[in-house]
This record gives sequence, C-alpha cells and structure tokens, in this order.
Amino acid sequence: MATLEIKDLHVTIEDKEILKGVNLTINTGEVHAIMGPNGTGKSTLSAAIMGNPNYTVTQGQVLFDGENVLEMAVDERARLGLFLAMQYPSEIPGITNAEFLRAAINAKRAEDDKISVMQFIKQLDKNMELLSMKEEMAERYLNEGFSGGEKKRNEILQLLMLEPTFAILDEIDSGLDIDALKVVAKGVNSMRGEKFGALIITHYQRLLDYITPDVVHIMMEGRVVKTGGADLAKRLEVEGYANIADELGIDY
Ligand code: ADP
Ligand code: MG
Ligand code: MG
Repeated sequence: MATLEIKDLHVTIEDKEILKGVNLTINTGEVHAIMGPNGTGKSTLSAAIMGNPNYTVTQGQVLFDGENVLEMAVDERARLGLFLAMQYPSEIPGITNAEFLRAAINAKRAEDDKISVMQFIKQLDKNMELLSMKEEMAERYLNEGFSGGEKKRNEILQLLMLEPTFAILDEIDSGLDIDALKVVAKGVNSMRGEKFGALIITHYQRLLDYITPDVVHIMMEGRVVKTGGADLAKRLEVEGYANIADELGIDY
C-alpha cells in the first residue's frame, strides 16, 4: 500500500494566502473526492502538489510514502507515480498522441525496461477501445484541435497508459455531456484497485453518480472543513454549501 499525505499545507499566490492548512491522507485502494465552492483553492491544491512554480508553499508537507514530494522536480514527481489531469489541458504541437504516450511511459522506466512497440500498441488499442476512442486519435497531434470532450477523454487515456499510483483529477467533468462523462468515469473506475488511489476534484455531484468515492472532503476558504462518505456529496447536492458553512460556523 502507498500513501499520499498532505500535512498542514499553506500555499500563496502572489503573496495572497490561498491554502490555509490543508490536511488530507489518501491510501492506494481509495478514491477521494474534494468538493467546494468556486475560488476555495481546489485547483491551487492540485497545482501545488504537482509543483506548478506559480504557487508558493509557505508551510506544510506533501509526503509520498514519507518522502517529501515538494522537494522533487516535477518530472521526478511523475516518475514517482503522481498524475495530474489539468483543468485546461494544453496543446503540444508537432508530436502525435501515440508518440507522446510512449515517451511518457518510457520516461518513467529504466533503460533496460522500455516498453516494446508491440506491447505499447496492444495496451493502446485496449485502452482506446475501453474509452470508445476513434483509432485516428492516436495519430493526431497532441491536443491540437481536440474538442473539449476529446481532450478530457485523452487525459483519461493517459491515465490508463501511465498507470500512476496516485491521480489528481481536477474538474475532469467540466464541460462534458453525459455520454462523455460516463466514458471518463468508466476509465477511472477501471483503474480502481489496490495499487491505485485518486483524488477527484469536482464542483458538482454529477460525476460522483458514476464514480462512487470512498471518502468525500469539503473544502472551504482554503481548508478541508468536513470529511465524510459518499452520502456527504449527496447532501451537498440537495442543500448546497451554505447550510454546511452555517453549521460549521464558516463565514461563506
Ligand atoms: P477553485 O479551484 O476552488 O475554484 P482556485 O484554486 O482556482 O479555486 O483559486 C483559489 C483562489 O486563488 C481564488 O480566489 C483565485 O482568484 C485565486 N487565484 C487563482 N489563481 C490565481 C493567480 N494566478 N493569481 C492570483 N490569484 C489567483
Ligand atoms: Mg476555479
Ligand atoms: Mg478549480
């Protein structure tokens, strides 16, 4: 079992404190969801974990099996087994999707353990079929001219191909129609198991109808203010954030 521990994390953007002491522990075998109102620091949390240089960690730790992730270079974090799906995936011109995936897989592997072309194609075919992706998507230039839904689906393909230990999925559901949402959920659910843990960041309960989380955290004002089971997300959908803020005495 692997553990990702976020301890008293404080993060500032341009000298403004956004995260004010986030505590959270995820084990492999678990899917956690973070929900919270807009502007509460959810994306800041995922950006800080992955080492986005615009976010300054002023206090606290992120530990992967006890090792301080925050001291590692970004590619080191990926090699260790962290995966981040961005809220706005970027376009990388000049490299095909398949080339990118194979390079990304091999970047994580030792010299004598590179994936063979045959093995790669087999994996790619299997995962693209699972996600109902057209074959031509493999030969398209990465994210160039992809629709919003195609980008999201492609992020999940990356997830399936890279097989990280922990994935942080920030608003992977935003802008998806129901069919695409179901495909994305199917991909994430197929990763579930003893060797994988996920932190799913979402503004809405809708995605959690298809990916039932083991643990739900509510984040407000830069902190995790409440933790519960899947029922907590259902309650939020009915009541909104105001009631819970009231109950916890948070000025929201
Ligand atoms: P969420 O993902 O929960 O909607 P974010 O983490 O994106 O919240 O944003 C948290 C807060 O940080 C917001 O108040 C937002 O305006 C602020 N913020 C985010 N990015 C920047 C930035 N680049 N510069 C200044 N403030 C920012
Ligand atoms: Mg936001
Ligand atoms: Mg966000």
